[in-house]
Amino acid sequence: MTDSNTPTKNAQVSKATTQSRRLISTWQSFNKIGWNSDNLKQLSLINQRLIGYAERYQDEDHLTVAQAIDTVLSQLITSNQTSELETLTQRVRDLAKITLRKSDQGNTSSTPQLKLRKPIYLAILDAAYADKLSRQLSYFGLQCKILSTVNDLEQHLRISHPAILVMDVDFAGTNDSGIDFVENLKSQSQLTFPVSFISKHGCNLETRLKAIRTGSKSFYIDSVDPGQLIENIDVEMGDNLDNDYRVLVLDDSRSQAHFIDTTLRKAKMTAKVITDPLLILDTLDEFQPDLVVLDMYMPGCTGSELANIIRQHEKWVSMPIIFLSAEDDINKQLQAMSLGGGDDFLTKPINPDYLIRTIKNRGKRAKSLLALMIRDSLTGLYNHTHTLHRLDSAVQNAQRENNQLCFAMVDIDHFKKVNDTYGHPIGDKVIKSLSLFLKQRLRKSDIIGRYGGEEFAVVLPNTSATDAVMIFNEILAKFRKIAQSAGEKDFYVSFSCGIAALTPGMTDSPILSELADKALYEAKHAGRNCVRLYSGTN
Ligand code: GH3
Ligand code: MG
Ligand code: MG
Repeated sequence: MTDSNTPTKNAQVSKATTQSRRLISTWQSFNKIGWNSDNLKQLSLINQRLIGYAERYQDEDHLTVAQAIDTVLSQLITSNQTSELETLTQRVRDLAKITLRKSDQGNTSSTPQLKLRKPIYLAILDAAYADKLSRQLSYFGLQCKILSTVNDLEQHLRISHPAILVMDVDFAGTNDSGIDFVENLKSQSQLTFPVSFISKHGCNLETRLKAIRTGSKSFYIDSVDPGQLIENIDVEMGDNLDNDYRVLVLDDSRSQAHFIDTTLRKAKMTAKVITDPLLILDTLDEFQPDLVVLDMYMPGCTGSELANIIRQHEKWVSMPIIFLSAEDDINKQLQAMSLGGGDDFLTKPINPDYLIRTIKNRGKRAKSLLALMIRDSLTGLYNHTHTLHRLDSAVQNAQRENNQLCFAMVDIDHFKKVNDTYGHPIGDKVIKSLSLFLKQRLRKSDIIGRYGGEEFAVVLPNTSATDAVMIFNEILAKFRKIAQSAGEKDFYVSFSCGIAALTPGMTDSPILSELADKALYEAKHAGRNCVRLYSGTN
């Protein structure tokens, strides 16, 4: 298998793209907190660097827009003409379009984004099996490189590391030689990725112990189940997800708010900063944070008072709240926490490391508690109640912002037959495989839930009906090609899908789910294994 993009070319593309993203997110945060000459200059520095990368790597698209941004910024900095801010917004939008296009590598914004950018390396001796596994994983949107010799593998590892390495235990020819290879990488500190081993010839405890000692967490006898492999990758990447907190910050001081915003973004968290206490309830609904950081003393009200108001909403009762204040009297801190139901108290000046660690600790515990309440235990997807809850918020947001939105319901075809023929545990595996498939193929911003037994529901914000139909047709076309394994036997499963699009003036989310349900019924009626859009006549 060959890769048309050389690693250096990828690195070049990603440098300008990463810098563009940095510029866009900085623009967003300044645009929220308000413009002044300092932040204009800061944005200009970021843009200069983007120009540098675009010139160095002859990236004409980025260069043209970055130069246009430079012209507007220079005008803004020298003449302070606020009317030019609108032009700046336009140019940043142009940049966002290019960046999206480049990072999606040929996909349009409506098509699913792949979670894994790095490929999976398959170091497997049996070429036919490696080919089959690679094809199966490609349906999940995962790209594989088949490496059939140690030489090949070594060469690839020198250039770039995989998302995960799947390897025969005897890859280098003799017993356990594959494990020895990995052990050797580990001793040279070259093992920066997870490894899954496969053994074709049964295996003894000694081999398994050796595999475990390399740090490998998964071991397959005979063959790899693609669903299980993807799940392992998900778990292995879990550490990255730990940082993925949505944090809402309220501080009336703009400089303090900006400082916290920058600190959180550096730690790869999604931050939203507001400086006006009156916006807190609306922003909670809109942004759906995992955690809130509140300044203790603000004009008009205190952090404890606001925390009390937040806690009056059932939905936010268990959300962690961290107070910030210059108050270093421990008695007063404790009093504020007991009055306001805060979880932590950080004293200004804030130490960035301490802030991040506190957020991670609080966030982790809150997330695992919340997961019990809102997630389905078999698939890890949102449960029925929470999916509807998220649909409701998404509908409100879309109507407020005048955005498009679609709701899709997916139901596995003839699932009873799967259970009857292969047994309930295999049925469970099929449900899990569809859930993984949806997670893998849909965008991060899409909300995926397990609606019932073998039914799923997906909220697609910012998506037109045409795009939603295209997305699910594509998902269906790939899903029905996945070999579901029941012991020695493979079988194939399809689903039916009903989609309803939000129309202006529709404020009730139950109506939307009712319409999607009607479209699903229509799809079943039309012979199953297809996607139907609610058209108003069915
Ligand atoms: P259709 O194409 O019309 O959707 O046919 P179907 O057989 O898929 O539909 P039906 O709704 O009649 O059957 C769904 C079956 O799904 C019934 C139930 O036993 C099974 N089921 C529900 N939840 C689970 C589960 O968690 N695990 C397993 N294995 N089966 C489940
Ligand atoms: Mg059903
Ligand atoms: Mg069904």
